[in-house]
Amino acid sequence: MKSIILLAAPAAGKGTQAQILTERLDIPHISTGDLLRESLSSGSKIGNELKEIMESGKLVSDDLVIDLLKTRITKGDCSNGYILDGFPRNINQAIAYDKMLMETSKEIGYVFLLDVDYDTAMKRSLGRLSCPNCKAVYNDMILESNPMVDNICDICGSSLEKRIDDNEETFKNRYQTYQKETKPLINYYEEKKLLCHIDSGKKKEYTTNEIIKVLNLRK
Ligand code: ADP
Repeated sequence: MKSIILLAAPAAGKGTQAQILTERLDIPHISTGDLLRESLSSGSKIGNELKEIMESGKLVSDDLVIDLLKTRITKGDCSNGYILDGFPRNINQAIAYDKMLMETSKEIGYVFLLDVDYDTAMKRSLGRLSCPNCKAVYNDMILESNPMVDNICDICGSSLEKRIDDNEETFKNRYQTYQKETKPLINYYEEKKLLCHIDSGKKKEYTTNEIIKVLNLRK
């Protein structure tokens, strides 16, 4: 199995697809957002600084994220590949990642761009509820993504939480950050003939099937 990079605007469905794919393909899901949110809850000085940056919708420093990622992908469970959700998020991170792969003689694998329009992404962000324990994602504005019991995770029974950055103002800022910092990666991976566009505006099962079709075709 090769690794997978999921690129997309905020709240376009990266986490949802990564969560489904991690089970279907039996490779780990690595979300830099989740790794950073874990550092937030520690209450340390760096945790408070991170919270401010994430609430503002900006990106945290490349050095920090690159270090976090390097540590994570060298763990044993990543030897057969992994799903990257939220990384790389700018050209500098993509170049650092290429270097990491070269140093470890690993292949980049697949790069999927999950296409979704602005209004759909905004709706997904504003309704998003996340499980702090098992990281499952729900949405109280989309009927089929509601949890079975209000505010309780179907999988592990924990209370669901709203993320600090899932509000209208932060969403707008995150979308701007995406346009400025992350969108240039489309060209970067298109030039390397790696990018594959996937429609992420329909039901999640449709998006998963489109991804699986490509994985089967380009084994
Ligand atoms: P979403 O799933 O909605 O796209 P994430 O959970 O991936 O959001 O990211 C939340 C926030 O965490 C980002 O707005 C940013 O501040 C920070 N973050 C996550 N990944 C990175 C990264 N690779 N580089 C810099 N900042 C990041």
